[in-house]
Formats: sequence, C-alpha cells, structure tokens
Amino acid sequence: MSNEYKLCACPLDCFDVCSIRAEIIDGKVTKLTGNKEHPITQGFICEKGRKHAERMYSPLRLKKPMKKVNGGFVEITWDEALDTIADKLKHYINEYGTLSIAQYNDGGAAGLLKNIENLFFDYLGDVTQFEGNLCWGAGMAAQKLDFGDVKGHAPEDIENAKTIIIWGRNIVETNMHMVPFIKKAKEKGTKVIVIDPITTATTAISDWHIKLKPKGDAAFACAVAKYMIENKLFDHSFVYNYTKGFHELSSYIRSLSYKELLKLCGTNMDTVIGFAGALVHKPASIYIGYGLQRYKNGGSTVRSIDMLGALAGIIGISGGGVNYANKVYGSFIDWESAAPTKEPEHRYISKPRFAADLAGLDNPKVKMLFISRSNPVVQQPDAAEVAYVIKGIEFKVVLDHFMTDTAKLADIVLPVTYFMEETDIIYSSMWNSYMFYNEKLVSRDLDVKPEFEIYSILAQKLGMSDFPQMKEEQWIDKLLSKLYDKGLNASELKRNSFTKINVNPVAWENKEFSTQSGRFEFIDTASLNGCIASEQSKTSEDFRLLTVHAKESLHSQHFLTSEVEHPPVYLNSQDALRLEINSNELIELYNEYGCITAEAMISDKGQSGVLFMHEGWWKKNGGSVNSLTPHDNSDIGLQAVYNDCICKIRKQGA
Ligand code: SF4
Repeated sequence: MSNEYKLCACPLDCFDVCSIRAEIIDGKVTKLTGNKEHPITQGFICEKGRKHAERMYSPLRLKKPMKKVNGGFVEITWDEALDTIADKLKHYINEYGTLSIAQYNDGGAAGLLKNIENLFFDYLGDVTQFEGNLCWGAGMAAQKLDFGDVKGHAPEDIENAKTIIIWGRNIVETNMHMVPFIKKAKEKGTKVIVIDPITTATTAISDWHIKLKPKGDAAFACAVAKYMIENKLFDHSFVYNYTKGFHELSSYIRSLSYKELLKLCGTNMDTVIGFAGALVHKPASIYIGYGLQRYKNGGSTVRSIDMLGALAGIIGISGGGVNYANKVYGSFIDWESAAPTKEPEHRYISKPRFAADLAGLDNPKVKMLFISRSNPVVQQPDAAEVAYVIKGIEFKVVLDHFMTDTAKLADIVLPVTYFMEETDIIYSSMWNSYMFYNEKLVSRDLDVKPEFEIYSILAQKLGMSDFPQMKEEQWIDKLLSKLYDKGLNASELKRNSFTKINVNPVAWENKEFSTQSGRFEFIDTASLNGCIASEQSKTSEDFRLLTVHAKESLHSQHFLTSEVEHPPVYLNSQDALRLEINSNELIELYNEYGCITAEAMISDKGQSGVLFMHEGWWKKNGGSVNSLTPHDNSDIGLQAVYNDCICKIRKQGA
C-alpha cells in the first residue's frame, strides 16, 4: 500500500483560495485537510473543500463525451465529438461568418490554463462574446473610477485596525479565513461593526450590527458623510491633498435632508453619529461585500462607501483601506510571450442580459454556442428565458464535470478534468495575493480532458497553424515569465505548491492614485443623487427578494446531489402572520419573470417586506431563484442586478 501527501489549492470561486493537503493512498485521494503551513489557510478548510474528493470520484461524473440523440444522450469517442464540433464550426463560419459562433464562460473552476479557451476564440476570429459580470462588476468599475485600480490590503494588515467595518459581507460563511485575523484584532481591543440587511453568522461575531434596509447603503453613507462634513470630522489633510471633487460633493451632501436619508436606509441619527465616530477612530478598515452592488445603483453604492473612506482619511494607511478586491497580480500574466496577441473585433453582448440580448442579435444570429465553467440556466438572471434562448440555438457545446441543467440542453457535452487530475496555476483570490501550483495528483480514471487540451486539439482539427501547441509546463513557464523576471521563484512555487506575490500590504500607501488626475476622485453628484433616488416603488404586497450564498455550496455546484424538493425562502414573522403563512408551508413567489414554489421558513433574520433565499438551486430542487431575478445591467460595470428583484407571494395553488 502506498501512502503519500501532496499539496494543492481549491479552485472554487472563493475569497480564500485554500492550500489543501491531500492524502493519497494507492493512487486515490482519500482525505483533504487544510494545510497548516499556509499563512492564510492555517490548517482548516470548509466543507466544500473537504468534499472535493467525493465530487471527483462521484458516480455522477461525466465519463466520456456525450452526444444528444433523439432527446437523450449517448456516449461517443473524443475523436467523434471533436470532429463533429470542428465540422459544425467550419459549416457555420462558412455559411454565416465567425460572429455566428458565441462563447460563454464564468468562474466555476479557476485555473490559468483554463483561459487558453479565450485565446482559442481570439485566434478563431471575430466571435460573439459576453461582457459584464454576474458577481462583482459594479464594484470593480466603481473602485477603478475612484482609485484608478482595485487594490486591497494584505489579510494580516486588518490586525492593525482600531475599527473593522464589514459592509455586506458574510465572512464567517464566505471568507472564513478572515475570521482568525479579526479575532486577533479583537484581542487587541478592535471593535467590529457589521452592516447587513440580514442577521448572519458574521453579525454574531460583531460588536455592533447595523441593519439597514436593502439598497439603503448609499443613503446611509450620505447621512454619515453629511454628519462628518457638517461637524468637520473629515480628514482635511487627506481631502485637500489627495482628492478631487470635494467642493461639489460637499455642497451636495450638505443640501441633503437627514430625514429623507434616514427613511431610505431605515436607521436613526444615533446610528449615523455612532458610525461616524467609529470611522474616524483611526485606523478603521472597511471590507465591502458583493451583494450590495447587485442592484441597479450598485456601482454608485460602492463609490459612496469609497467616499466615506476618503473623508475619514483611512486610505493608504496601515489598518485602513476600503477593501473590495485584490486582483492586481493578474496583470503580471504574460499572454503576449505565450501567444502573439490577436486583435479580433468580437461582438459583445451583456452577460446580465444574456437572454434578451442574445435573442435580439441579428446579422448573423448566433448558430453555435460554447459554454464552460458555468451553469447559466441556473445562475443567469431571468433563468427560464435563458433556457429558452439556449434551446433555440442550433448547436450547443457544454464543457463540464457533471450533467447540469445547462449541459442537458447541449448537443455535445465534453467531460473535463477535476483540478486534482490536471496541472495548472491558481491565483483567483479576491482577497489575498497567493499563487498556487496545482500539480496533477492522480491519474484520470475517466475519459476526460482539461479544457486547454480540448481547445488545442480543436485548433489542430481546424488547421489553425498559428495557435500555439504546448504542454502544460511550457504554457505555465511562458505565462509566468514576467513574474519570474520580478523574482518569483519557479522551483520554490512548484516545490511548496504556493508562493506569495509581492504586492504592497497597504494599498495606495504612496497616495499616487491611478486615476487620470492622480488623485482619489469622489463620486460625481449626479450619480450619487441618482443612486439614492433609485428606490423602486413597492406596494404592501411587494417583497424584495435577496439571493445570498449558501454556506454549503459555491453557487450551483454543490446542489448536484441535494434532494430538497423546494428551496427554502426566509420570511419575516410579521409578514407570515399577516399573510397567514405557516412554517414549512409551500408558497409561490411570482413576478413578471416567472414563478417558483418554495418552502416558507419563518425567521426574523430578515426584515418585514424582505425575503431571502440561497442561490444555486437546480431544476430538480424546485427551480432556480433566478427564474424571478431581472435581466438588467447595473449603473456601471455591467453587473447583474439580482437583488433588484421584487416579487409577490401567494399560497400554493391560490
Ligand atoms: S471553498 Fe473557499 S474556504 Fe472552502 S476550501 Fe475552497 S477556498 Fe477554502
């Protein structure tokens, strides 16, 4: 019996990106635990991480390529699958041009080499692609406008904060490795404030939970800013030396009425004064979540929080920062040296408006669609319409591990490797700056291939002679060459499985911002005014439906084996009483987009007039919550506006 331990990294779309220790007995992964030697992972991982081996060896894994025949699927060889795909590509390109080919992917599995897929379509020609974001786009665009780029502080710098403000992020369940750093800060006397419309596991570890109305964040930020400006509590030195737009902003903020702002955010003046005091008790560190920017006004909301950070002068100082994401090291990846850049003129349509925009395309219409690393039939807003539009496309190819609701609509499904069956580089954290080398740990029992290999073979079959044909290690060495030049030690990375990318632990420490003016740029007053005035009108029959991440699943991935028949929806007890709804009763949620049946859970974690549900439920679980969410773009950043979802409730069958 052979027994060994190897390291790898979790490729799920998660802030933490854990370093995982795999126990391998006789060539099989038997147990996964957190690597004790990794400074962020610190020896523990979540249930989703521990379940990777179970998923990799699941009997539900796709074992061979599949082709749809008479509404069902039959297994075929890789040659037949890729020959068919290559023939279809040639046919549609000849008949309708390259724009008739569309490519859709997302963050279902991280991996540097997985992006070779994008390169394939760049080499193929001007295809149809999706721009925008389902996750964090509005906030990214917001910070780029304010700071010129998106940078965060190193995780351990939070220990230097006197006040930690977690604004709309449930870190205990979605960024759990931040908790030990917060505990250390609390031991030194740091106070933790959590702002969230819902009571969560994170509010339980806070000193103060501020429960705002959903979509009330910008109004609250304006009330706090007004108090800071009127009472001269802002950092004059930072504002006058390093910012642009204060004069106009100050006049506008002074003109706002506390009464109106407090009504919009659902809080009181004591909270505003208390919060302003905590913010200027420097250094204060703000961590923003992604739910609050999944609104029509999402970008301006994040800009209003950045505004508070600038007024408080907590930018560029240790223990401070307005932290949204930390992805700057992605720009060090050297695509140019790996493959000469092509400059295709792709046709772009909005990702959040998938169904409406794809259906509306003409000249040419999309005839062939590739989908990978995602399950849009569940995860896209207006999900039912998305399924309908995908069904209507002549030829669909889906790359996945499992037969998802989206894969079921495909004409060909290609089974891809699980991360422990392939070699790749992982650098996907939105929070820390570690890069991982994921070595292939076990042989492939199934007839599966990594995405990059699939596209390399397709390029050969299509006679794309300029498409680079390289092995994994050659790709990795070329793509990381800029980082090697900057001192990244390749053998250390491969030996230890991870290394830290050298970025300043304090974002914007030199106060040289990447904006055009070189200064922090305050949100313009027209955008701010539009943002706080954008509350939808609601009747007493209307509920705002918030979709939140489940602790047990990364988006839709871990509901594969769930036997839940109807997704739970959390309903405030006052509303339940008024509508005479009992706990565990089946109710229907409906609006102009669709209807789903859900199981009522009476809970005062939410507020009256607000429902919340976990995202990711499959069709077999009663249907995706996204059957109800609107297809629209946020103000900036083409972000999906999942939380701008208003629906009504009726008793089942009523
Ligand atoms: S999902 Fe996140 S917390 Fe869980 S193992 Fe993966 S990276 Fe770690």
